[in-house]
Amino acid sequence: NMEKILEYRMMPYGEQHILLVARDITRISQLEDMRKDFVANVSHELRTPLTVLNGYLEMFAGGTQSMPDEFVRKAFTEMSEQSVRMQSLVEQLLVLSRIEASSERIYEKMVDVPAQMQTIESEAQTLNKEKGHQIEFHIDPNVKVFGVETELRSAFSNLIFNAVHYTPNGGHIRVDWRLEQGQARFSVTDNGEGIAERHLARLTERFYRVDKARSRKTGGSGLGLAIVKHVLSHHNSKLEISSEVGKGSCFSFRFSPELTVVSSEEAQR
Ligand code: ADP
Repeated sequence: NMEKILEYRMMPYGEQHILLVARDITRISQLEDMRKDFVANVSHELRTPLTVLNGYLEMFAGGTQSMPDEFVRKAFTEMSEQSVRMQSLVEQLLVLSRIEASSERIYEKMVDVPAQMQTIESEAQTLNKEKGHQIEFHIDPNVKVFGVETELRSAFSNLIFNAVHYTPNGGHIRVDWRLEQGQARFSVTDNGEGIAERHLARLTERFYRVDKARSRKTGGSGLGLAIVKHVLSHHNSKLEISSEVGKGSCFSFRFSPELTVVSSEEAQR
């Protein structure tokens, strides 16, 4: 005898009336909870066996020079690479299910975004070694927000690392963090390959990729933007994407004035 879960919608009905529509979503929300639990459990259970496999494979793949057979050498190297990939997929799935289940209150802690950006910038530069982009960070040191530190960090870094990843070598990437009309706003702009209009609506779905064949080769889980979407919805925000094929993309979002903190304000409190 579970309580019913109802979803309400209010709409204007003529000049003076309001129509209230209630929908029973008990079943839908039970199924959704089961799906979330299932994904969380499966990824958790897969972790240990994968760690074991990974450890041994890495050990063997490290000793391939001494293996006489070319085929065996290749096989071990490939098995080791794929098992690392599988492990990172499972980790990302766990991150996603934790965020979906997260009930941490966003107003409780202030997140020092400028400090986070410094860490992310040096990680991005490491990633950038092979790509040789020009990466610029324009960060207002006075702008901070209320939120969940780990979640915001993964949103920022996913978007920035994607720009590094999907822009052909020697590109230009610009990251902005500033105040706009009382709202903290993040954006990352690249001059990479861009994304066709028809993909934009589905881009934040789990495992959605623009170029399936190629992303399988380049790694990545297809979960990055799904994670970003959930983090942002937890922070009452929404991802905005503008993109043009061949020109580049811009991913941005803003925080409501209630979540935005400016340092000078902070000093006065
Ligand atoms: P992943 O990068 O692991 O494939 P994401 O969810 O982070 O998964 O991204 C989904 C897809 O969106 C990518 O596979 C890629 O096709 C596209 N994409 C994301 N960021 C960019 C970007 N900056 N430029 C072009 N395409 C992008």
